[in-house]
Amino acid sequence: MAVANLTEVLRRQANRRGDAEALVDGAQRWTYAELDADVDRYAAALLAGGVRADDLVGLLGRNHARYLIELLAIARIGAVSVPLNWRLHADEQSWILDQAGIGVLLFDDDFADDAATLRERAGLRVSLAHGERTVGGDPRIDDLLAQVPAGVRVPDAEKGPDDLHRLLYTSGTTSRPKGVMHTYGNIAANHLGQLLELELTPADRILISAPLFHVSGLEAPGLATFLAGGTIVLCETFKPDEIAEVVHREQVTGLVLAAQILFGIMDLGRMDDLASIRYLLFAGVAPTVRRRVKELLPQVRLVDTYGMTELTNGCCYMDAAHEQEKVGALGVPLPLMQLRIVDADFQEVEAGTQGEIIVRGAKVSPGYWRDEATTAASRRDGWFLTGDVGYLDVDGYLWFVDRRTDLIKSGGENVATAEVERVLAALDGVAEVAVIGVPDPRWDEVPKAFVLLAEGADLDEDAIRSHCLAHLAKFKVPRDIALVDALPRNDSGKVLKRVLRANETGGER
Ligand code: ATP
Ligand code: MG
Repeated sequence: MAVANLTEVLRRQANRRGDAEALVDGAQRWTYAELDADVDRYAAALLAGGVRADDLVGLLGRNHARYLIELLAIARIGAVSVPLNWRLHADEQSWILDQAGIGVLLFDDDFADDAATLRERAGLRVSLAHGERTVGGDPRIDDLLAQVPAGVRVPDAEKGPDDLHRLLYTSGTTSRPKGVMHTYGNIAANHLGQLLELELTPADRILISAPLFHVSGLEAPGLATFLAGGTIVLCETFKPDEIAEVVHREQVTGLVLAAQILFGIMDLGRMDDLASIRYLLFAGVAPTVRRRVKELLPQVRLVDTYGMTELTNGCCYMDAAHEQEKVGALGVPLPLMQLRIVDADFQEVEAGTQGEIIVRGAKVSPGYWRDEATTAASRRDGWFLTGDVGYLDVDGYLWFVDRRTDLIKSGGENVATAEVERVLAALDGVAEVAVIGVPDPRWDEVPKAFVLLAEGADLDEDAIRSHCLAHLAKFKVPRDIALVDALPRNDSGKVLKRVLRANETGGER
């Protein structure tokens, strides 16, 4: 048997707990036996449609069971999946298609226009339509499925830990998206780590509401649910009422939630709908938000994490035993992972001292696809350089400070924009906020805040500034405070500070 091939895990669960519920998508439900059989059918259909074991298969679709089944079917036949962000412009998708060398594209009806444009690309051999609209005479998947003999079995491709499982393009917060390679070993290490840290069991019902083209949709914890023998509940929405609805209906036990969605659910007075939840996963939530959630849902474990696409999602998870004592800490590294904090000379620093977070171990991606220069620039002596600044406390717990590119250098002091943002976000009436450094002849850089007020908020710049002065050292208080109608965000909801900086200085960095 190969090492922890995800589809082998599925096959094993089908043998051991065939009648247990594996997947829910709206009114449709699959047991493990049904899901495994469907993965076989799709695998056979993909082979009949001309997909080959060494293909890179792009997926352009919304979160539906079909998408998840195809991801598994692609792995079963030994091909490599490349989930594509459908929100990108067709030009950006084209760039990814060429950069990756995608040979096959699977697409939803909604994206048939994009697919038609992409079909013209030199490397694209065939496109397979999920819906009615086909491109260039290529087949529909349903027609291929109709030809598949009943009860078909497709053996799992033999894969080892170093073999490529998929490419996942980064969020593109700081630069153009980068194609992160995830191996079978990376993914197995992620799932085993999540099983341990989140104590996943067959009783778990995990909601995936983030897009499946993003690491937080696929892997936080997402697919690890199958290793636990639990149930994945699939939807795709950022709407608080819809999330509350599905959590309640499906008795969801765990999910990742952005703070904005949680606030939405609180504002709707629907926190009771979240009563079945056992844990909530966060990546960087203000302590004030945490306290409010804990008051309303005392039974819920709030798990802060530190992770990134390059680390196959979380590298550290906060443990339940220290959650209250160390509010804001991100936990200790998972097994098979090492983490250090280093200074500018790559020397390890003492506990409590800030520096760059560097990581090595089983979850670190082997690099960026077909981009040796960027891969090499992100490595040193076998360590992956995260580009994030943090520190370890005396107990070895990680605390996040800021992205290195976001840190402001003001009069010889470092100002973490994340800290200033936390203080601003805690002020009643502030809905969203972003802080950047802007050039200053005397101090090099000074902080500038972009603030979006909540509806009906009675705040002006002076009130915001006095709040900052009451909670921050003077050099951290934003020199300028701009009230704005919207902040530029990418698809994962992260603020694009490079856009804000470009507006200030006329160039991105
Ligand atoms: P790109 O690399 O394309 O610019 P991105 O870095 O936003 O995009 P992701 O891999 O989704 O893409 O995000 C990882 C980043 O998220 C980390 O490098 C870190 O800066 C940030 N992050 C992760 N965990 C936390 C946390 N607990 N608190 C604050 N920020 C975090
Ligand atoms: Mg990044």
